[in-house]
Amino acid sequence: MGFLDSLFRRKGATAPVEESAVTPECPHTAVTPRWDSAADMGKTDLVSAYVCEACGGSFSREEGAGFVAAATERLRISEEGRQERMGH
Ligand SMILES: [Zn+2]
Repeated sequence: MGFLDSLFRRKGATAPVEESAVTPECPHTAVTPRWDSAADMGKTDLVSAYVCEACGGSFSREEGAGFVAAATERLRISEEGRQERMGH
């Protein structure tokens, strides 16, 4: 574990230069559906727009559904990875 220890210690000691220089692009994982009519609320096929709560961006139903699917997929993958790590 000596190798990993030194690796993590070095990583924590030096500030990542490229990360502070580049503005991270919002992955839009916090998109929430919006409905024009309150009566349509909850009906995914009648969503008027999606709004990202992280960056405030708004997207069409097609775009928003894509971000929701991507976020769900990302969550599923990380969940699988966690279970795999726990198994070992
Ligand atoms: Zn966003």
